[in-house]
Amino acid sequence: MNSHLVFALLSVLLLAPSISALPHFFPNVSSIPPSLVPNISAGAWQRFEKFRGCRAGENKDGLSRLKQYFNHFGYMKGITGANFTDDFDDALEAALKTYQTNFNLNATGELDEPTLKQLVRPRCGVADVVNGSSTMNSGKAASVHLHTVSHYTFFPGTPRWSSSKSDLTYAFVPENQLSDEVKTVFSHAFERWSEVTTLTFTETSSFISADIKIGFYTGDHGDGEAFDGVLGTLAHAFSPPSGQLHLDGDENWVINGGIIAPTVPSAVDLESVAVHEIGHLLGLGHSSIEDAIMFPTITSGSRKVELTSDDVQGVQSLYGSNPNYNGTTSVTVQERDTNGAYFVGPLLWGRGLALALGLVLLVL
Ligand SMILES: [Zn+2]
Ligand SMILES: [Zn+2]
Repeated sequence: MNSHLVFALLSVLLLAPSISALPHFFPNVSSIPPSLVPNISAGAWQRFEKFRGCRAGENKDGLSRLKQYFNHFGYMKGITGANFTDDFDDALEAALKTYQTNFNLNATGELDEPTLKQLVRPRCGVADVVNGSSTMNSGKAASVHLHTVSHYTFFPGTPRWSSSKSDLTYAFVPENQLSDEVKTVFSHAFERWSEVTTLTFTETSSFISADIKIGFYTGDHGDGEAFDGVLGTLAHAFSPPSGQLHLDGDENWVINGGIIAPTVPSAVDLESVAVHEIGHLLGLGHSSIEDAIMFPTITSGSRKVELTSDDVQGVQSLYGSNPNYNGTTSVTVQERDTNGAYFVGPLLWGRGLALALGLVLLVL
């Protein structure tokens, strides 16, 4: 049997149970029916707010969940087990300090207000810290001007698409039945990266043979990085050459490209998330520059789709510059406001590799 076909069948078997066949899309915020606007104060991470002021040496009921959160995003160094206690121990304090540095907060090691505010924001599922070392170039911000120093990062080993693969194809999971309007959002997101590099992106109807496979899923969908309903983690993507881009089918995705009203904090701008996740598909990790597309979070109630110089330098160091790129992207207006929450992403490359190797072994 053709190995591609075997791979496809295995993929279908693994992923089919949780494909979100009918993800929610709305042209704008006002079109979201009230019944679909959840009470986000009951969000998965809001419970962390009760830890306000908590510090080393204390014991608080439920603190183990915060350790799991930090573990998911790579901050609990050298700890792989799930036997976390509710003690605010040295490991948690160390994780917290690294997190605070990555997000340009004072590294107090305490659960102060600014830190809690950041912790509960919805985010990309890709880890900030890989193999125990921060991938966000933390620390530079303290001594230099943010705007003059590059904080772009790569995945360990700097994986990238090979130079013979400069025209990448992409396809959507057929079961999602995405409209042309939704597909156009992704097309625009890809253009932002092709505009500055030698890469091109072409949609193909062949999901099996596409280099990049895009799909909306809910809950556990077979890669060990379960989605969590509205907000929380919004999407995640694997490093090259995986090409897997997954989005949470439970989000209220807005596709009109307009500014999202902060009155509906659960609304998420699809293109903003797509541009960020494509950065991961190309090999970029998270950046500690807040304005960069590759910062792990995005302010909800806003739109953030324009590459910054940090993003451009990062991707160009992998693939070179588009000869037509003159130093500025075509989009010059960045629409954002100061209200609302954020998005961010998981540590997928390692598990993705393991999954891929498993499939190869099965095929053999
Ligand atoms: Zn996934
Ligand atoms: Zn991310």
